Amino acid sequence: MREDLQVYDNVLQLIGNTPLIHLNKITSDYKGKYFAKVEAFNPGHSTKDRIALYIIEEAERNGILKPGNTIIETTSGNTGFSIAMVSIIKGYDCILAVSSKSSKDKIDMLKTMGAKVYVCPANVAADDSRSYYQVAKRLHQEIKGSVYINQYFNELNIDAHFNSTGPEIWKQTEGEITHLVACSGTGGTISGTARYLKEQNPDIRILGIDAFGSVLKKYHETREFDEEEIYPYRIEGLGKNLIPTATDFDSIDKFIKVSDEDAAHTARELARKEGLFVGYTSGAAMQGLKQFYEEGEFDKNSKVVMIFPDHGSRYMSKIYSDDWMSEQGFFDTKNEVSSQTIEI
Ligand code: PMP
Repeated sequence: MREDLQVYDNVLQLIGNTPLIHLNKITSDYKGKYFAKVEAFNPGHSTKDRIALYIIEEAERNGILKPGNTIIETTSGNTGFSIAMVSIIKGYDCILAVSSKSSKDKIDMLKTMGAKVYVCPANVAADDSRSYYQVAKRLHQEIKGSVYINQYFNELNIDAHFNSTGPEIWKQTEGEITHLVACSGTGGTISGTARYLKEQNPDIRILGIDAFGSVLKKYHETREFDEEEIYPYRIEGLGKNLIPTATDFDSIDKFIKVSDEDAAHTARELARKEGLFVGYTSGAAMQGLKQFYEEGEFDKNSKVVMIFPDHGSRYMSKIYSDDWMSEQGFFDTKNEVSSQTIEI
């Protein structure tokens, strides 16, 4: 059992220092050692608590944010929740422009946390006036004294992970980490963590996870934006239809793409085999690790750390709903029997 009996002044003091958990069963046939940094242990249940706190406190330090100001952001949900949580404790108003692809659960949660939520169509170009980027920009211009977090184009997103996630993993593995596996959305998590780890040991391999339907992997390989790569997909928070400047592509050694279907099944496998009830992109990270293993990335000396970005409770109406899985056709190719309900 955990021995930490400290009393805290508010939830923000619980951000960071998330546990590193050894995976025992899902990788039992693999050579090497595999660990998950489980970001659901943050008080907002995701890795985005780190960037919300860091960026807001940087703005306070620089005198940009003053009590009563409004904080605006575009978000697939997690960043919004974290910003809303930090805003409540620190006394700011919070406005969030979210994609209609976000689950209803996530949107309801944001409203519960006191945020004003604008739901914007998911499958429009980033420069369309209805996209969540453009809506947030417009609100920022209209509301005096507002601060736009702009996580996709904010270097502080990288710095937040350089200053917390990276040092924590280095300490938790006693400097023995050989590979980092992380999803890329804004790219802040993978880039900031990678920059810190590579500063300690340039040989550490940084392996990124991208989605089919996203431009990141192709851009990493060619440094060209290929519109043909873009099409709708289901995983929220992973991949992108633009090139975020919060991604340091040079810090990443290799990208792999995972499918919506494989990532969903692998997330459910993590729950069944490891008792880890984590989000869709955690399934994507684990699925990517499996694919990297097949490609021969790891050997008996590997100490691999994966980042699991958020908690499973946010996906009850998606990957953890048998109905949703069936509707997507995800039970057609794999005969997974997940939940067993016994009616009396
Ligand atoms: N997983 C989830 C669930 C997310 O919300 C995000 C952020 N969009 C990511 C992974 C990717 O993290 P990052 O933005 O730091 O690349």
